[in-house]
Amino acid sequence: MTAITGTDPRTAGPLEPTAQASSTDHVAELAGRAAHDAFALENLGRERRADLLDAMAAAVERRRDDVIEIASRETGFADAKLNGELTRAVFQLRFFAAVLREGSYLEAIIDRAGDTPMGPRPDLRRLLVPIGPVAVFGASNFPFAFSVLGGDTASALAAGCPVILKAHDSHPGTSKLSYDILSEAAEAFGAPSGTLGIVYGLQGGADLVAHSAIRAVGFTGSLNGGQALLDIVNGRDEPIPFYGELSSINPVIVTPAAASERAEQIGRDLVASFTTGAGQLCTKPGVVLVPRSADGDRLVDAATAALTETAPQLLLNERIYSSYTAETAQLRQRCQVATFDAAASAPASGFYVDAALFEVDLAHLDGDLVREIFGPVSVIVRYDAEQVVDQVASALHRLPRSLTATVHHGSTADEDLTGRLTAVVRETAGRILYNGFPTGVAVSWAQNHGGPWPSTNSLHTSVGATAIRRFLRPLTFQNAPESVLPQELRSDFERIPRRIGGVLTLPSADTGTSAPASATR
Ligand code: NAP
Repeated sequence: MTAITGTDPRTAGPLEPTAQASSTDHVAELAGRAAHDAFALENLGRERRADLLDAMAAAVERRRDDVIEIASRETGFADAKLNGELTRAVFQLRFFAAVLREGSYLEAIIDRAGDTPMGPRPDLRRLLVPIGPVAVFGASNFPFAFSVLGGDTASALAAGCPVILKAHDSHPGTSKLSYDILSEAAEAFGAPSGTLGIVYGLQGGADLVAHSAIRAVGFTGSLNGGQALLDIVNGRDEPIPFYGELSSINPVIVTPAAASERAEQIGRDLVASFTTGAGQLCTKPGVVLVPRSADGDRLVDAATAALTETAPQLLLNERIYSSYTAETAQLRQRCQVATFDAAASAPASGFYVDAALFEVDLAHLDGDLVREIFGPVSVIVRYDAEQVVDQVASALHRLPRSLTATVHHGSTADEDLTGRLTAVVRETAGRILYNGFPTGVAVSWAQNHGGPWPSTNSLHTSVGATAIRRFLRPLTFQNAPESVLPQELRSDFERIPRRIGGVLTLPSADTGTSAPASATR
């Protein structure tokens, strides 16, 4: 059996082994237990599952220092970044508890029996039910918020689905400790034993995705990893939803007016954004469209000045380090201008690199030149300020779609242009930002983190309240006796928003009874 061992990125040396790679038999045992206990987890009901998530959040808080310590050793991230991310993960668990208590995620609908222009209609009642056991793969760059403690786990458990986690090779010890905390909290709470499981090693992950008891996969990671697992999903007798959130380049467009008004500030903020987390963020601005003008030059100069003050950055693992080194070498060859390329100030040991900024003219842009490079680098593309909309459209057509697109516009007389640019970028992204930077994804009801691409399923988000929708499927009961209906579909249950006879009906805050939505607004 292979030992699973993390690496200290500061020295590139191995850490102590965490676990053994999971055997196919062990994965099958975990998947079988999850399937066996799925109904019991669903039957805890919304309120009890909300309490379970709150109990897990409290348990993680109690072990905050231990989790931060091991994650720091395995990732090299600063404690401030890890603390912020852990706070976000804890918030996320509690947030999904609130989503459960509110209840509208169930999309409960009641159409009572009656006559219609098409003849008599039976009594139909629909809501969303858990899809079944879910496999969750986290990413190296978020050891908490997109890993064992992350949004896929929180939203799948909230939905009522058992979760089997794949520990990430880049932070196996953090994965194990996080899992131990969650599973101990689940046991103390009295949740079914199949609520959570964990597997180690590449083959364990592949076996998990192939297992017939697994009914959906939440994956955050690389294009290649996502593609390999998607191939396994497509080879199953019964293919299942594969929610892959993959790499992204996140174009930023600076209009001529924005460059005129705020060149220096945008240049500085751009560098802060693409070096956050050493540039290892799926929301990193990887390409920036800047006018070919004196104002555009000011922006680039400000970015260059900010980069000269940026210390060497530490990458997470050998794969990301090698890929950064190779990809930036290619950029160096193919771009006309290396706006900033300190080359070789980084320490020789460990996975340290220098930040870099390259520049290319629009005429030389293609999807091969600008693709996601995980690390502190970005590419400026110069466009002709006289033809901004056409040139931006032309640039975006040559690039893959993204999680986000950003428009920096001026304060006056730029509205028409901002509207036309919005029409161009909305085809390519799942979140459009104005006068900001895409790094940082708030967890909220309205958030969308996904896009036409790099989401393998473009209908859903992996962050925010509606992420729960990925792990639910619709079920309609026709002429069912009240006693077999889930309580949220029973006639006398009025504590969540429901659509009855086509009319949205909300619970009244003071009495706990329902009223049509229009009456309470
Ligand atoms: P990764 O190398 O693809 O790893 C992700 C997970 O997939 C790991 O558990 C890995 O296993 C597993 N895996 C990879 N290839 C596999 C294969 N062929 N068979 C079975 N399992 C496989 O990705 P990463 O380096 O952790 O993450 C960086 C990438 O994630 C970047 O591209 C970034 O943009 C993306 N990301 C996207 C988002 C988003 O929301 N869109 C968020 C964060 C990161 P091992 O650990 O055993 O190798």
